[in-house]
Amino acid sequence: MATKRDYYEILGVSRNADENEIKAKYRRLALKYHPDRNPGNKEAEEKFKEAAEAYEVLRDPEKRRIYDQFGHEGLAGTGFSGFRGFDDIFSSFGDIFEEFFGFGARRGGRTAARRGADLRYDLTIDFMAAAFGTETEIEIEKLVTCPTCEGTGCRPGTYPETCQYCGGSGQVSRTQGFFSIRTTCPNCHGEGRVIAHQCGECHGTGKVKRKKKVTVRIPAGVDSGSRLRLTGEGESGTRGGPPGDLYIFITVRPHEFFKRQNNDVICQVPISFVDAALGVDVTVPTLTGNKKLHIPRGTQPGDVFRFKGEGIPSLRGYGRGDQIIQVIVKTPTHLTRKQENLLKEFARLESSKLSSKIKKMFGGTH
Ligand SMILES: [Zn+2]
Ligand SMILES: [Zn+2]
Repeated sequence: MATKRDYYEILGVSRNADENEIKAKYRRLALKYHPDRNPGNKEAEEKFKEAAEAYEVLRDPEKRRIYDQFGHEGLAGTGFSGFRGFDDIFSSFGDIFEEFFGFGARRGGRTAARRGADLRYDLTIDFMAAAFGTETEIEIEKLVTCPTCEGTGCRPGTYPETCQYCGGSGQVSRTQGFFSIRTTCPNCHGEGRVIAHQCGECHGTGKVKRKKKVTVRIPAGVDSGSRLRLTGEGESGTRGGPPGDLYIFITVRPHEFFKRQNNDVICQVPISFVDAALGVDVTVPTLTGNKKLHIPRGTQPGDVFRFKGEGIPSLRGYGRGDQIIQVIVKTPTHLTRKQENLLKEFARLESSKLSSKIKKMFGGTH
């Protein structure tokens, strides 16, 4: 296991920092390294996780005491192991992120942090690009966190205000006959807060549509129907929730010569019936260039030959399929008089060969 950094050092606070200071420092780091702002950035992801783990320990007096006294090993002894991934962090810290993003502490059934929507992009690529992999840039339009208000929906310098209608609880009581019914506040829709001064850019939604260029690395061996997932490249989450993912659906354009069957590449080679009878050396296109193939005497229509390991690389990263060569024997359609006479002569010899065979079979004599 890699050595872990000191939790106080990660958050940049002294060992006797109080709860508020620790929270403020963590807030800064969480905003800076939030996956919404750093999609696909591994370093930011690590920093985000590291900070979350440090905060998880230092905000809890009991964990902090054990850490101060016994360090990382002490915590490991209690079964603490940090976070596995974003979802883990967001489900533990949902409340805190709501607060960070300006929506106050939770009181009652309010909307929690929500993950952003997944997006789909259909990408058509060439046969060769699918065989050997490629990198391409696509442009997607998606909802991202509003840069002006950082997702709060409030005009910069203003904050959401406590809803006057429900007093901030997000719920209102209504008397109906003998009963008193509590329902979601119609004024703040259960948020408990209202945005009095809307951000001019996103009109209070906290999100704006943006076009974004994304580099997609396509691994060798993809096929029509393959689906690639780009973690965190979907739409931004709500109230600090994690972003969704972007799914790339692949379609492969057909090739002029090659057909694909799993990881094998099939190509057809036409030869004349004379070459099929006498044997011939032909040049065959392969994925990596032309290659010589000896077709032996007496090859029949439909016979196949195989170049081992010259097919498409396995998507799983080991081995390649084969190239399969199907022989198509062409029957001539336009014959010169001389060719025709030669063929008739050939046929006569064949039939006399055959008839002598038959005569032998039935005991006849010449
Ligand atoms: Zn309300
Ligand atoms: Zn805004």
